[in-house]
Parts: sequence; structure tokens; C-alpha cells
Amino acid sequence: MSKPLDLKQLNKDFDGKPPHEIVQWAVDTFSPEVALSTSFGSTSAVLLHMASQIKPDLRILFLETGFHFPETINFKNDLVKRLNLNIDELTSEMPREEFKQVHGNLYERDPDKCCYLNKVAPLKKALVGVKGWITGIRRSQSDTRTLVDYVEEYEGGIIKINPLRDWNAKDMWEYLKKYKLPYHPLFDEGFVSIGCAPCTRAVVPGEHERSGRWSGSQKKECGIHTFLQKKKDPEDKG
Ligand code: SF4
Repeated sequence: MSKPLDLKQLNKDFDGKPPHEIVQWAVDTFSPEVALSTSFGSTSAVLLHMASQIKPDLRILFLETGFHFPETINFKNDLVKRLNLNIDELTSEMPREEFKQVHGNLYERDPDKCCYLNKVAPLKKALVGVKGWITGIRRSQSDTRTLVDYVEEYEGGIIKINPLRDWNAKDMWEYLKKYKLPYHPLFDEGFVSIGCAPCTRAVVPGEHERSGRWSGSQKKECGIHTFLQKKKDPEDKG
């Protein structure tokens, strides 16, 4: 990639485009320095399926925090096998048992630090050399995500690509149905947005899909989508 990208124009061009075309653009533009991160959450199979059809050996980043539900690990293993994913499991510097001995239940005392050590730091390391980072972020997921764009530039020049920006839950379920893809087994027990077990609860009808994450605290995001500073548009005077 030689010419700087015109993100403003790209975001205009992508408006209304099907997500797989945006994934295709990302793969064509950034390969081999491209990766996709996933949590193996309730509808993660959508983007994984879409991307694996386009680039079967795409590097798939998964944060193996050691705190996942066993159902998440089984779901991940099933999808890795089914879609033949090129999975890259990221772990914290400290081995899990040592982490537990040193920090105990850090998620109770200091969830930001726990997320930093188990998610942000390993991801930062894994993103070195990555130019295009594909994510499954959707605007409809939470009020912290309503302003995401299809393509965004972050510090260090990394471009984040959010092909599902405009999809809602209905779109996701229709895709799963169309391609006969599985969803996370805990969804049927009320878990909609699924992260680490100690920090996720089931939601009741009418609650927002991410309201079961860090429930009862002010924390809304783990930090993997906020640790990098977004590059400001020079024409944006705000
Ligand atoms: S989601 Fe909870 S358990 Fe997982 S890394 Fe963050 S604070 Fe720790």
C-alpha cells in the first residue's frame, strides 16, 4: 500500500455496501499485514464465516484470558474446526496459574487492570506489524459504539475496519440462518454479549445487549477498542 488512504471518501463509498465487500477491500488492501479479532461471542460466526470465505488463511486473533466460560472455548474449538480458521490465541505474559496466585480475583478489585493485563497488553503485542485490523464492532451494540465508522485510522497508522458497522441483531441472525452457522450455546440462557465468565451475566428481555457486561459498574468496554488513540480528521475543528 503506497498511497495514503482517503478515509473520508472510503467511508462514503462503503455506505450501504454489503459487509463482505468491505472485508474483501481490507484483505486486498492490507494483506498480508491484516488480522481479524474475535471474542467467539454469540454471533461471531457471521464475520468469521464471511472472512474465511474471502481469505481462508486470515489471521484470527482471540484473547485467551483464561476466564472464559467453558462453553466459549468449546464454541471456539467448534468454529475453528468447522471454518478451518487460522487461529492465533493471545495470552498474558504471566502464565494463568501464576496470575491467579499473584493477583487473585483481580477482576473484582480492579477490572481495568485485569483487562489491561489479559486483553490489551497481549493484543498490543499481536498488532505490531498489522496494518489492517478487522473487527466485528456494530453501531447498534452499545452507546459507546454509535459513532464507529467503516474504516478508522489509529495511532501508529493502524487502520481498523468495521464491516458490520450498520448491522443489527436481526441482520446477524439472518446471516447465521442463511449459512446454517452455529451461535454461542449460552445465548439460549440469556447471554447476549459474552465476555469473560466473572464479568458477564445473562440479560433479561428489554435490556440492552451489552448490559450484562461488568454489570453494576461504570465499566463498559474492556479497552481493546479504546486503548489506541483515533487519529483526528484535520478538517474536524471539534
Ligand atoms: S473481562 Fe473481567 S476477567 Fe476478563 S480480563 Fe476483563 S476484568 Fe478480567
